[in-house]
Amino acid sequence: GGKTAPQEFEENALSEVKHVIAVLSGKGGVGKSLVCGGIATQLTRAGYKVGILDADITGPSIPKMFGLSGRHAHALGKLLLPEVTESGIHVMSSNLVLQNETDPVLWRGPVIAGAIRQFWSETSWGPLDYLLVDMPPGTSDVALTVFQSLPVEGIVIVTSPQDLVSMIVAKAVNMAQKMDVPVLGVVENMSYIECPDCGKKIEVFGKSKLDEVAAQYSLDVLGRLPIDPALAAACDAGKIEESLPAEFLSQALAACEAV
Ligand code: ADP
Ligand code: MG
Repeated sequence: GGKTAPQEFEENALSEVKHVIAVLSGKGGVGKSLVCGGIATQLTRAGYKVGILDADITGPSIPKMFGLSGRHAHALGKLLLPEVTESGIHVMSSNLVLQNETDPVLWRGPVIAGAIRQFWSETSWGPLDYLLVDMPPGTSDVALTVFQSLPVEGIVIVTSPQDLVSMIVAKAVNMAQKMDVPVLGVVENMSYIECPDCGKKIEVFGKSKLDEVAAQYSLDVLGRLPIDPALAAACDAGKIEESLPAEFLSQALAACEAV
């Protein structure tokens, strides 16, 4: 069911978004964008209309993962039009509005906050069942801006075993509580390597602490993803949609469906 927002969020006439779900991690490089793109792809395969708002303004990686590099979002009057992926996912990203996508984004805080708001209230999302938000890394002011600008209904936390998992999950849970948004659960990325010969799962970073930490904060574990060089290569080549295994992040998909 929908959340009764204590706060009024901006809307526009050309968007009708049923559920907004944010993908958050305590730090960069853990695979937040991969998990965000993965959940979006799985929701699309399940028949939902899906969008991705790339709120990682200074480190956008969603367009590349979906083969949208080099594309430029068009405008409809004052509204931005998302670019659409092969499987029909609507994407808005700083990468799609910059002249030269290889230029680093050197914008200051208020400009970044403005871009995030514009990607919500001045973008023509059309009718969507799910809008996934690829959050900026960590629990910074920019992350706060997202929660203050969009009606986020649930958060998926992404960790990896080499992190100080406990502290990183604590930070994310803290932010979720402050913003009064439920945590749908935690995904552990780069959790293990699967032996190509015997199929055995090898925990290269030592025994995972995820179950312990999840129990401590009463969080659901929404899955563990292996280190998969083929998947990394597929993402690099813009082919995430055709490369995901059928069961990829199935528990995270179910958690989104239960929102
Ligand atoms: P973040 O958004 O948290 O910064 P990304 O999703 O962009 O992280 O992932 C960082 C890099 O690691 C990317 O090049 C991505 O393809 C790679 N990567 C992420 N998860 C995996 C995985 N499970 N196996 C192999 N490579 C991965
Ligand atoms: Mg990212």
